[in-house]
Amino acid sequence: MSAPGTPDHPLRVAIIGSGPAAFYAAEVLLKAPDRAVRVDMFDRLPTPYGLVRGGVAPDHQKIKSVIAIYEKIAAHPGYRFFGNVEFGTHVTRGDLERHVHAVLYACGAQTDKRLGIPGEDLAGSHSATEFVAWYNGHPDFRDRTFDLSVEHVAVIGVGNVAVDVARILCLTPEELRETDMADYAIEALSQSRVKEVSILGRRGPVQAAFTTVEVKELGELPGADVIVRPEEVALDELSAAELAAARAATRTKVEIVQEFSRRTPTGKPRRLHIRFMVSPLELVGGADGRVTGLRLAKNRLVKDSAGAVVTEPTGETEPMAAGLVFRSVGYRGVALPDVPFDARTGLIPNAKGRVLDPSHGGPLAGHYATGWIKRGPTGVIGNNKADSVETVNVLLEDAAAGALPEPAMPDPAALEALVRERRPGVVSFADWKRLDAIEVERGQPLGRPRVKLTSVEEMLAALEPARG
Ligand code: NAP
Repeated sequence: MSAPGTPDHPLRVAIIGSGPAAFYAAEVLLKAPDRAVRVDMFDRLPTPYGLVRGGVAPDHQKIKSVIAIYEKIAAHPGYRFFGNVEFGTHVTRGDLERHVHAVLYACGAQTDKRLGIPGEDLAGSHSATEFVAWYNGHPDFRDRTFDLSVEHVAVIGVGNVAVDVARILCLTPEELRETDMADYAIEALSQSRVKEVSILGRRGPVQAAFTTVEVKELGELPGADVIVRPEEVALDELSAAELAAARAATRTKVEIVQEFSRRTPTGKPRRLHIRFMVSPLELVGGADGRVTGLRLAKNRLVKDSAGAVVTEPTGETEPMAAGLVFRSVGYRGVALPDVPFDARTGLIPNAKGRVLDPSHGGPLAGHYATGWIKRGPTGVIGNNKADSVETVNVLLEDAAAGALPEPAMPDPAALEALVRERRPGVVSFADWKRLDAIEVERGQPLGRPRVKLTSVEEMLAALEPARG
């Protein structure tokens, strides 16, 4: 049989996940010149867009405008969405191999990295990923509870997620009510008694993972004074040398936090501390098993044998009160059933997006990866575009070379029938558009972007009786 890609014999690709990397991959596939392609996108949630819906901060609505691009991609006649369908449960790798030429994994990094220190699992210690998913109304996290009656909160890490978490904890009730945050989270955060929020960087401001715009915003919050210790943003020799060679954005970032260190608190209801050069040694608990604080090690910076700027404890330690701790030290990929996975890196092993078969080290024909499960949990939404272009290019090369296994059941209707039989609650893109309209409509009288539906049951009930 000829290589797939003609109108009679289209190239069939299943994409697992529906976040930015998935949509960019779909776009490149569906726009491939001289090649007819059909894309079936699967998500275990009824709602698409991955972290754009469930991760991007609810007070950063502009970032979510990328959804307009994804909607255009979804309008392509070769595109289908199968929401509320879990890979490995409702459709397996074997099922997809019988129906499509290629499976493209774009499932992101679904859990958090661990700190590996004592007390990490005390009550009141949570991963930032849990908190973010909770306030964004992710159905799996809507029932979590966070004790917001405490005064002190520590957020470990100084990446953009830590900045998001700290900022959200400092929003005023008025600011919260303008967001598309889940209703229950607005309610809980509006009643929060938190007074002090500290984000904790183990290295200095030059090495901080947060970006300029995000850290600048911390100095502009109506409800919180930002506090930085001058001695923690004074640059040592290593940092000064690193900064001299750094991009302009890094210099701006350092200037921003140094300017913060010269401010005098103005008596706003909350105080947001940005700390540097401290590492948590342990989380300390009370008799009731709840976290009461942390023991921090003070650090100095040194170069390791590979030339990287790393920390070394000075020997000095510091106690810190915290009734609630968020660990925000990065996301981590999770293995998919029957798909190669490198447990050490948390990635699907791949070369330019071609999944590698651990039994022989070469490509696993017809399987590809893109986004965070391919390269790790780094970069902003736009970085996924180049990543997906690279993966789709190798996929199309393999298709043209006749290197993709021909599926036994290439009729698109056969896969749809299988999915509907296995998962009667499957949600199509038309269904999602109805849910979207319901959410937006619920937000209108309140002047909010939308009021999210946060449980799968309520989403499916809202779609009855006419599911598309
Ligand atoms: P991240 O950028 O990788 O930051 C992780 C932070 O955790 C770093 O400060 C890191 O410090 C620290 N860390 C790691 N291990 C640690 C340990 N054992 N002890 C103490 N600190 C530790 O991860 P992220 O914040 O989860 O963000 C993930 C990606 O999403 C990033 O690319 C981020 O820019 C992006 N994002 C973007 C936005 C936005 O554009 N507004 C919002 C949210 C997320 P070291 O540097 O010392 O390792």
